[in-house]
Amino acid sequence: MEIIDKAAAMQKRCEEIRQSGKTIALVPTMGFLHDGHLELMREGNWLADILVLSIFVNPTQFGPAEDYQTYPRDMEGDLQKAEEVGVDIVYAPPVDEMYPEGFQTKVIVEGITKQLCGLSRPGHFDGVATVVTKLFNIVKPNIAIFGKKDFQQLTVIRRMARDLNMDIEIIGVPTVREPDGLAMSSRNKYLNAEERESALCLKKSIDMALGLINEGERDVERLKASIREFILKYPFTNIEYVSICDHLSLEEIGTIKEKALLAIAVKVGKTRLIDNWEIDVTT
Ligand code: AMP
Repeated sequence: MEIIDKAAAMQKRCEEIRQSGKTIALVPTMGFLHDGHLELMREGNWLADILVLSIFVNPTQFGPAEDYQTYPRDMEGDLQKAEEVGVDIVYAPPVDEMYPEGFQTKVIVEGITKQLCGLSRPGHFDGVATVVTKLFNIVKPNIAIFGKKDFQQLTVIRRMARDLNMDIEIIGVPTVREPDGLAMSSRNKYLNAEERESALCLKKSIDMALGLINEGERDVERLKASIREFILKYPFTNIEYVSICDHLSLEEIGTIKEKALLAIAVKVGKTRLIDNWEIDVTT
């Protein structure tokens, strides 16, 4: 496995790979790898000849009051996991390689970034779109792989790739969960034992809502009220949003007709957790 930290060296190496006729899959991450990340890599290994993993805790996607400084990091452990899962190249640039002095460009996706997480994290998706554009330009992958755990992020990247004619296939991978249902996340590390117990309210409230939907409930306001009530029974929880929205535009809907997205963000103690579920009442 190669480890590269300079953009120019990475561009050169990826150009050689393309010249040799091989395809490249890119999995962008912020590291502290867990099985959710590894699933994206397995998908990449399957879909392309060469698998590139990027590890970069991107400062521009964190708000001033957010956890950039304390975000968990474990480069040694990450490299071992990457090697085991069959990554060919790790791109792990330092911050000043990605944002050298004088940097002043932003990629802004409008519309869909104003919903859900965009409401409480202003500028977050500008940071995501900008860093992903840079990674795309550095690696120029044929395929890029993202998790549906961050469904809005995946939607933003798909929109950006289409709008800017980026010739890259964007793949979404289903959320990988702990055995008890909690969506895997690097931030789960912040939870103490009691908070970890309460964190189950996200997936359990989704299951509860799916039960109601199965029984025929289609009214979004009633469903959201039931979900809120369910979550607030758990200690340490503070709901940021509960949304049932169009799965493409992410705009709120009144009634579930065919497909929809159920998206939840809850603070458990100080830890902000999200979960998403694709609803499909046509099957
Ligand atoms: P992060 O390191 O949190 O920025 O995540 C890097 C990529 O892994 C993103 O595309 C995430 O959506 C994806 N990811 C994170 N957690 C999971 C999970 N539990 N299941 C599937 N994909 C995930």
